[in-house]
Amino acid sequence: MSLIVQKYGGSSVADAESIKRVAKRIVETRKAGNEVVVVVSAMGDTTDELMDLANKVVPQPSGRELDMLLTAGERIAMALLAMAIKSLGVDARSYTGSQAGMITDAQHGSARIVDVTPGRVRAAIDAGAVAIVAGFQGFNRGTGDITTLGRGGSDTTAVALAAALGASVCEIYTDVDGVFTTDPRMVPSARKIDRITSEEMLELAAAGAKVLYIRAVEYARRHGVTLHVRSSFNNNEGTLVVNPVDGESNVEEPLIAGVAADLSQAKITVVGVPDIPGKAAQIFTTVAGSGANIDMIVQNGSLALTGRTDISFTLPKTDGPATLAALESAKDDIGFETLQFDDQIGKLSLVGAGMRTNAGVSAKLFTALFEAGINIEMISTSEIRISVVTRADIIKQAVTVVHTAFDLDSNDGEAQVYGGTGR
Ligand code: ADP
Ligand code: ASP
Ligand code: MG
Repeated sequence: MSLIVQKYGGSSVADAESIKRVAKRIVETRKAGNEVVVVVSAMGDTTDELMDLANKVVPQPSGRELDMLLTAGERIAMALLAMAIKSLGVDARSYTGSQAGMITDAQHGSARIVDVTPGRVRAAIDAGAVAIVAGFQGFNRGTGDITTLGRGGSDTTAVALAAALGASVCEIYTDVDGVFTTDPRMVPSARKIDRITSEEMLELAAAGAKVLYIRAVEYARRHGVTLHVRSSFNNNEGTLVVNPVDGESNVEEPLIAGVAADLSQAKITVVGVPDIPGKAAQIFTTVAGSGANIDMIVQNGSLALTGRTDISFTLPKTDGPATLAALESAKDDIGFETLQFDDQIGKLSLVGAGMRTNAGVSAKLFTALFEAGINIEMISTSEIRISVVTRADIIKQAVTVVHTAFDLDSNDGEAQVYGGTGR
């Protein structure tokens, strides 16, 4: 008998009909002789709606209370799903994150899993039942409080349970057929990838491909869990995210795995910074103190006349207000002139392990953007990724032309998107 962990995203359980459809699928897997542990997300856009509601009540809700509120979403989905499965004649028991032993640190809103003690889940499957676990949530032993793992965190719950239970596979069910060469909701000519390395998937997820949550990919890589990303709306084979053994030949790997877009970032420019040693250190110490996770940094050449320079960096839009406030209060110390905040940027990233050994990738990328008349505002690279910042309103065009320039377009017609609102 093999143990399978299946995770169903919000778009797969958006309404009562979808919950019944998913329940049928789970029952089929159980009846085929497998032990099944299911991780479920909140229905549809519930998490966003709860967040909107909280923000209407107060602009900056307390982390503890926000986690209490948001975890209610998964609790609703898990109970309804367990009811639906039972009505089909298979025993099912739902568990909150804390009941399922998802032990985390105390960081509300982005807690990390520190231990998994799935005793009750194991007992349920030993008794022949399907165990349904609420995704995205955990419990901190020190504070005794409920935590959440960050947006998209149900993927991490599934991987952590798969690792702790020694599952043969962790299936991530969503509203598209797998991982594509770019977001099929944005670019319909995107092509489904059959097999991708966890290294490339990690870069794509970090660059904004929300089909998998970055921490889930990291966790799967560290614990050797194989992920199978597939649609809950059909039985097609999806995408396998694999951890190749060191030294395994990569000759068949394509040059480029995919293109990702990220519209969640903003840019802060610190204008008129004295061009003397120590200023960058002061600025980024201040930024770090505000808790922001910065990404790209660009320092312009200074004007000899003024001896001043501008420093720009990108950060999540949501970290903007706190970071601006922190810099403003250190203005006299640092000695800069003004701050600019730009939340109309888009980041495009090209990812591929083949970049390591192939020259000319950046030249081709910049040429494709130039030919489309797209201006590049910032550039950053890693060993297997090149990212550029453009205006937000042309990001779709930018991704489309780059996707075509690198021969990633599908030959089998348009990609299907089966559900979800893209929110
Ligand atoms: P779920 O509700 O199942 O968690 P998500 O909305 O979190 O689903 O993730 C699935 C969505 O991710 C797809 O509908 C698609 O729009 C988006 N996406 C972004 N990049 C990619 C990609 N490279 N491949 C597939 N889907 C992608
Ligand atoms: N419901 C949570 C979210 O929307 C967790 C998840 O879906 O993975 O972020
Ligand atoms: Mg998701």
